Amino acid sequence: MSDHTVIQPGHYKGYPTTMTRASLDAMTRQARKDQDGFWLEQAERVHWHKKPTRGFEGSFEGDVSIKWFEDGLLNVSVCCLDRYLTDKADQVALIAHREGHGPAEKLTYAMLHERVCRLANALTHLGVEKGQRVAINLPMVSEAVVAMLACARIGAVHVVLFGGFSADGIAERLVDSGSVAVITASVAYRGAKIIPFKEMMDTALYKAGADSAVHSVLVVRTSDDAVPMLPGRDHDYHDFVDSFEVDFVPVIMKAEDPLFMLYTSGSTGKPKAIVHACGGYIVWASYTMDMVYAQRPGDVLWCTADVAWITGHSSVVYGPLANGGTTMISDSLPAYPHPGRWWDLVDEYKVTMLFSSPTAVRAMMADGDDVVNRHDLSSLRLLGIAGEPISPDAWLWYHDVVGKKRCPVADTWWQTETGGIVLGPIPGVQSLKPGSASRPLPGIEMAITDTRGRVVQGVAEGSLCIARSWPGQARTIWGDHARFCQTYFTKVPGLYFTGDGARRDADGYYWITGRMDDVINIAGHRLGTAEVEDVLGEDHRILESAAVGVPHPVKGEGLVVFIMPRKDSATELTEEGVARLITQRLGRYAAPEAVYLVPDLPRTRSGKIVRRLLRKIASGETENLGDLSALTDPSVVGAVCNRVWGAM
Ligand code: ATP
Ligand code: MG
Repeated sequence: MSDHTVIQPGHYKGYPTTMTRASLDAMTRQARKDQDGFWLEQAERVHWHKKPTRGFEGSFEGDVSIKWFEDGLLNVSVCCLDRYLTDKADQVALIAHREGHGPAEKLTYAMLHERVCRLANALTHLGVEKGQRVAINLPMVSEAVVAMLACARIGAVHVVLFGGFSADGIAERLVDSGSVAVITASVAYRGAKIIPFKEMMDTALYKAGADSAVHSVLVVRTSDDAVPMLPGRDHDYHDFVDSFEVDFVPVIMKAEDPLFMLYTSGSTGKPKAIVHACGGYIVWASYTMDMVYAQRPGDVLWCTADVAWITGHSSVVYGPLANGGTTMISDSLPAYPHPGRWWDLVDEYKVTMLFSSPTAVRAMMADGDDVVNRHDLSSLRLLGIAGEPISPDAWLWYHDVVGKKRCPVADTWWQTETGGIVLGPIPGVQSLKPGSASRPLPGIEMAITDTRGRVVQGVAEGSLCIARSWPGQARTIWGDHARFCQTYFTKVPGLYFTGDGARRDADGYYWITGRMDDVINIAGHRLGTAEVEDVLGEDHRILESAAVGVPHPVKGEGLVVFIMPRKDSATELTEEGVARLITQRLGRYAAPEAVYLVPDLPRTRSGKIVRRLLRKIASGETENLGDLSALTDPSVVGAVCNRVWGAM
């Protein structure tokens, strides 16, 4: 990765920001000097029923305990709705676009408040109580946002499950979370595909059997076709909910009461249900989104992430609404019904801030510049990404072709466990380096540790850790606090271990090198998977690539590379050519043991490449591939196995 390209903030003349370099530095200094004072001040961003006077309490040692603002009382739905009813009641809070369903639905703060209250009443009527879990399994429809906020209003803990998990995947999560009610849809549309949500839920509930505590299922009718309904358990969402009152007195919650739990993407193993607490999370969601995506009147923020991911929670729902902004959702795909579909929507809804994933950027890049250039994208002022490392090449394409070199690109690094953005630039204030997730936000004490777990200062490479707690930090793994302590706090005692590797350059910018599990040690040389993939990203015949390490009798580990060629380049790209490119660019030590051209790569539902599976396939451990429930298309695994091991 090159540190050479630096885009100075002055490049984006007139970029609207109220921050300056000096004010940012002052925040960083204050947070360092007086952590509690800093965060109690930031806590003023949200509405409290009783303001907190206590900052952080807890410890990363032993039986890890994390508490923030413990004496504060609040209701998160009030922070996101009621507080704006006086001055923004008629401002659009949510734009909900559905492919093939005409113009998007636009809900003002007043309308969203009404809908949330109706559902809060309906759930209460069904017997859902504070502290109980409610599973939300919906496509990107307005009811998904309403459902999350309604749970928050009654103090129920929402568990948003990704649409299209297999019935087994859903059943496992319903049982693990102990959900008592489910909010789902009849079907969802993904491009030309129809996904039978209700049918899948019925199978999941059947499989879960007596292990499930679900007594009620609300079904949003998303198509005209009838779906089977079980009398007594299932209710048509609107027939049932719309007759309830439009007011509901919010349940007052303690800051440390759980707001939601969310299963991680499952890139590295069995998904974990991460628990977030009301007070710390909402302060953090508001703070982080305001630092990077400062919303101004008239802004439309479209974060394309599904609500089932942490990005969907913090950047689609809680962050933008806590900050009184306008958020947009859509169930559309970038290239359906035609390439450039997302650019149509940016223009139609005058999106000012677009936040997406590297996977989507790479896919749109493959469709060619002409597709982008045919659209008017002048409404855009900020482009964002998160979720995976992005190569400088793809970053520059997003910046130059989509943003016309006018819009800063904010690459933000975060995790389900961090609740919100940890590394990311302050647009218009800090310099940008393509391929780097920039620097920690004020209040975050990042650390890099070496192989012996010692913190290294200055220019360094190693494990990415966080030295002090932050309000949006996960509190536990649901039902398994021991796994929480073990996963995040034992590798480097006293620090939060992210599981990712990173390099810090001389300017304090961080470059994510991949998951620590994925760092390859070839005869003593440490090679990040992202480093290999960056080099390959520069070859325009390659659409995507994934590098993994396999055991090697002599070198300890060897490099194996999987390549997804662009459709039109499949014939000219050879496995030898790819190997040569890597050796030329990274050195002889990096010479791959094998290169495989494959039609697709296994991905999680959030679009991330699952290297753990590729590693197993490459090293012949195909008998025990582990949990496949988080994969978008498990058949890809078979195709990759065939390429590596021949027809099995
Ligand atoms: P699991 O924890 O179940 O294996 P996951 O880690 O993919 O799944 P998430 O919490 O959704 O689940 O993703 C967080 C991870 O995504 C980070 O740990 C990091 O590896 C990757 N990531 C997120 N943002 C970035 C970014 N900007 N650059 C590089 N990697 C990123
Ligand atoms: Mg993770």
